[in-house]
Amino acid sequence: GRRTARRKGPKAPDETVRRLTSPERVVYPEDGFTKADVADYYAKVMDWFLPEIVGRPLSIIRCPEGLGGSCFFQKHHSGGMDEVGHVRLREESGKRADYLVVENAADVMALVQMNALEFHPWGARSDDPERADRVVFDLDPGPGISWDQVKEAALTVRDRLAEIGFQSFLRTSGGKGLHVALPLRPRSRWPLVKNFARAFAEALVASEPQRYVSVATMSRRRNRIFVDYLRNSRGATSVASYSLRARPGAPVAVSLAWRELGRLKQSDAYSLATLPARLKRLNADPWEGIDGLEQDLSRWEAPVQD
Ligand code: ATP
Ligand code: MN
Ligand code: MN
Repeated sequence: GRRTARRKGPKAPDETVRRLTSPERVVYPEDGFTKADVADYYAKVMDWFLPEIVGRPLSIIRCPEGLGGSCFFQKHHSGGMDEVGHVRLREESGKRADYLVVENAADVMALVQMNALEFHPWGARSDDPERADRVVFDLDPGPGISWDQVKEAALTVRDRLAEIGFQSFLRTSGGKGLHVALPLRPRSRWPLVKNFARAFAEALVASEPQRYVSVATMSRRRNRIFVDYLRNSRGATSVASYSLRARPGAPVAVSLAWRELGRLKQSDAYSLATLPARLKRLNADPWEGIDGLEQDLSRWEAPVQD
């Protein structure tokens, strides 16, 4: 079955859906989806979505006028968000700041009411922010890379992780690429996580330099896949599974089982309109077992630096 959501609050977000202001406002102009459609979407996927975001520092993308206006990436708790929880953390700058933390469906719906479309959690819990419980390899295809090559890259990452004893999980970003997530237990401190992610990406590049690149430089990305390991430092985020994307078509990021990769047609294969039906059909969580795995990064030996 589906992972339990560790639900702390009201299960049914119907109350908040009813209180939604401007439900008829068009959020996705090319598709005609309204703010009410967005709220209905999150209400429908809530039990799947919550385990991915609850109790983690969270950034959101808000689009107050929909995709037709400007959207902004919000890292901090702000005025008017009193009903949503927060955690005070040291920022990378050294200053302290309040980060959003949702605990339940009502919190999610409160953010949707504030025109949040995308949800991007840390790979760490708000009560243990110095240690990661998840690594994400973000595979970004450069120009000239085919979808089959992106899929192949995800399998290669999976297999290379398996070779060093780690089981990983597949996600569509809802954009152009794929994410491979590696759960950690016990949790590891960020410096180790970052070293591991960088060394893994660099080893992949060293083995197939014509196919992969681990530096963000745009000119290097042509005909290559950027193995973006930079999601794995303190304060970085990746999009949550089941989050909408603020892109035409209202695509969503989706957790998939590895066996589904073969017939996957594109990263934005699922949308606000189609994901709820997929979830109804599922009888097991595609990421079943992710919370129970013992995967200790301290077993990994860093390559010797020259
Ligand atoms: P795609 O498959 O199209 O690459 P993506 O979600 O992986 O979609 P990326 O641009 O690769 O998009 O970004 C990876 C992650 O980095 C995002 O999911 C997001 O959490 C984070 N991110 C992206 N842009 C920003 C930004 N401007 N500020 C902070 N974090 C960002
Ligand atoms: Mn990406
Ligand atoms: Mn990226």
